[in-house]
Amino acid sequence: MSTDMGTDGAVEFPAGIFVHWCESCGHEELLDSRDAYRAGWDFPPHMGAWGVLSPRTCPNCSMKDTSWWAITVDHRDIDEMTAQERKAVGRILDELPADSGYNWAELDGPSSLD
Ligand SMILES: [Zn+2]
Repeated sequence: MSTDMGTDGAVEFPAGIFVHWCESCGHEELLDSRDAYRAGWDFPPHMGAWGVLSPRTCPNCSMKDTSWWAITVDHRDIDEMTAQERKAVGRILDELPADSGYNWAELDGPSSLD
């Protein structure tokens, strides 16, 4: 893990901007991770972790409309989910942190919540 960042708490913010996307309303925005967090996005690496199912929502949407909620709260199987929810699951599992320097494997996402 790089050591030239991380002055804003326990979570390191990756340098630069990247696409933040909302699985509920489909909104996408190019944002710096710190700005996104302050605006109210639920998005890795500050909320959740790359490649681990957790809500991906913009400031206007509720985590109740996420695939994470469908699985962990509503206890729906993948074949009981909507096409949009299945697509979100696939997109989340496809997030590749390989070039980000972000060690997602050591972190627990919101999926560890009861
Ligand atoms: Zn949204």
